[in-house]
Amino acid sequence: MKVKHSRNTVACKIGEEIFVHPELHKHPELYKAIIKHEQSHTHSFSFKDFLLDLTNEDLKGHKKEYYKFMLRHPRTFLGLLPLSKVGPYWAVDPTMLIFMSLTVALITLYWKVKL
Ligand SMILES: [Zn+2]
Repeated sequence: MKVKHSRNTVACKIGEEIFVHPELHKHPELYKAIIKHEQSHTHSFSFKDFLLDLTNEDLKGHKKEYYKFMLRHPRTFLGLLPLSKVGPYWAVDPTMLIFMSLTVALITLYWKVKL
């Protein structure tokens, strides 16, 4: 599996390619955990991928380092958007699309209940 660089994400798998932030290799334990996570993803998007991101077992014990890395490299927040530019690709992240839709729905519901 090819590993390429993108500053717009911590890591992301698109087809057979894994994109990682070029500074990620400076954090070997986090790098290893993230590569393991990305390799577990399927080549398209399935319920397995959704569960993988929801539980995120591979990053257990690395969460603090992961968020610190994101804060140190704020462009990686672009990778949380449902649509982001990663390498030469425009990547759609169905998991984030679902999370964002649910968040918007819950906020709307909360406001409607409050009014
Ligand atoms: Zn994932």
